[in-house]
Amino acid sequence: MSKFDPIFEVMLKRMLDKTEVPVAIAILKKKKTDREISEETGIELEKVKVILKKLVEMEFATCFIKRTSRGDVRRWKINYETLDRIHDERLKNMGKEAKKRVKEIDELFEEATSELIETEMYPIIELLFKEQLTDEEISEKLMIKLNLVRRVLYILEENDLAEYDKEVDAKGWYFYRWRLRREMAKQYLTEKRKELLDKLLERYAYETSEMLFSCYSGICPVYNFKDALEHNFICPMCGERLEQYDNEERLKELKGRIERLKEQI
Ligand SMILES: [Zn+2]
Repeated sequence: MSKFDPIFEVMLKRMLDKTEVPVAIAILKKKKTDREISEETGIELEKVKVILKKLVEMEFATCFIKRTSRGDVRRWKINYETLDRIHDERLKNMGKEAKKRVKEIDELFEEATSELIETEMYPIIELLFKEQLTDEEISEKLMIKLNLVRRVLYILEENDLAEYDKEVDAKGWYFYRWRLRREMAKQYLTEKRKELLDKLLERYAYETSEMLFSCYSGICPVYNFKDALEHNFICPMCGERLEQYDNEERLKELKGRIERLKEQI
């Protein structure tokens, strides 16, 4: 199900021509009859009908027909599926290129963020490299859905890679201007590597301290002595016999990864 996003209004304004925009905006959130649209926009009824026909042909609008005792009532509404499709296709194209440029500008920051946010969202990072903006400004400038922009900002903030300044506008409303904390990328990566190192060290200790058993199927887990004994040395996943597991290769690989990580920290 497609849901409304405030960016849809901006998209329509940029994609449609001047005469079409008011009609499209009128049916953006609610189904309306051509008469209602005409009254609301001040555009004469015949013209409204022509524009609606065109919007339906371009798949920007859908016509709903309701049968009543007094005849059919036609109402129109913007087709969110089409806007979603255009939105997603644009992002896919923009994302890859933006990620490349972000990497060129700040390799550490790109590395720190690459597991946190999708490639499609990198235009947001690239834009924030240049200026401090509110979520709505980012959404409008890039034509990215507001809820997606907010999600990216919150993820970055949670990981100390972005922060905001709270400001007050002329009417006394608070707004938040976001900025990236590029200086934190190194620390973020070091912490992640430390976490991974701890896990690998734990794994290494486990594999060297225990006698392990495997069915050598390549997909079932490896069992310690206690678990293998409990199952009478028969793999509970596939029913094959469990044999002592030769983990020399795995230990070598683990050790290699541990050494490499230690060098990076
Ligand atoms: Zn098995």
